[in-house]
Amino acid sequence: MQVVSSPTQVQRLVQDARAGGHVVGLVPTMGALHSGHLSLVERAAATADFVVVSIFVNPTQFGPAEDLARYPADLQGDLSKIEGLGVDLVFAPSVGDMYPEGPTTWVEVEGADRHLCGPFRPGHFRGVTTIVAKLFNICLADKAFFGLKDAQQFLIIRRMIDELNFSIEPIGCPTVREPDGLAMSSRNVYLNDRERKQAVVLSQAVAAAGKLITDGERDPEIIQRAMRAIVASAPDAVLQYAEVVDTRTIAPVDRLSAGREVVAALAVFFGGTRLIDNVFVTVPPS
Ligand code: AMP
Repeated sequence: MQVVSSPTQVQRLVQDARAGGHVVGLVPTMGALHSGHLSLVERAAATADFVVVSIFVNPTQFGPAEDLARYPADLQGDLSKIEGLGVDLVFAPSVGDMYPEGPTTWVEVEGADRHLCGPFRPGHFRGVTTIVAKLFNICLADKAFFGLKDAQQFLIIRRMIDELNFSIEPIGCPTVREPDGLAMSSRNVYLNDRERKQAVVLSQAVAAAGKLITDGERDPEIIQRAMRAIVASAPDAVLQYAEVVDTRTIAPVDRLSAGREVVAALAVFFGGTRLIDNVFVTVPPS
């Protein structure tokens, strides 16, 4: 497993792998790796034969009031977690390697951030699509692996790949959870014991939303109300949003019609820690 920080060196190594006929898989991460990330790495190793993991805390996707300065970082710990999982190359650049002139070129999927996290994190998804486009051009992957836990991120990247004709297959991987249901996240370490116990409401709320839809509920407002009520049962939880949107348009629908794929998603604060969760559901016939 080679660890490289230079974008041009990564391009050369991946070009060599491609010339040797290898299918290249990319797993983009911001480090602080947990079992959720490792599940993507394992999927990549099972699907591709040259696996690149990128580790880069991308400053352009953090808002001024967000947690960039305290985001957990432990490159050596991360490398030891992925050692032995079939990773060929770790791309771990510095901010200067990625933005030598500062970021002046942006990639943006217009209008895709009007709902869910978008309104609360202005500029976030533009930062994500820009860094992912750069990673695609540097790592020259055939397949890229993303967690469905970050639902809006996955949907926006999928649209960017489509609209910009990247020759890359995006693969959405299921959310890995703690035994009580809490979605694994690098940010869970910020929670105190009391908050950690209450944080189970996120997974309970999205599970309830999924069940309502599969049981026949077709009114998004009723589903959103049910999610809000479950979150409200945790005394320290502050709901930011609970929404049901179509996965293609990333926009709300009036009624859930059969065959449509929707995602019910929410964001909740515990103190200064913001957590998200979601469930993807294809609406069954009534
Ligand atoms: P991050 O380091 O938070 O940017 O995440 C890197 C990738 O790991 C993204 O594609 C995330 O969606 C994915 N990921 C994060 N948490 C989980 C999880 N609990 N289960 C599956 N994938 C995850």
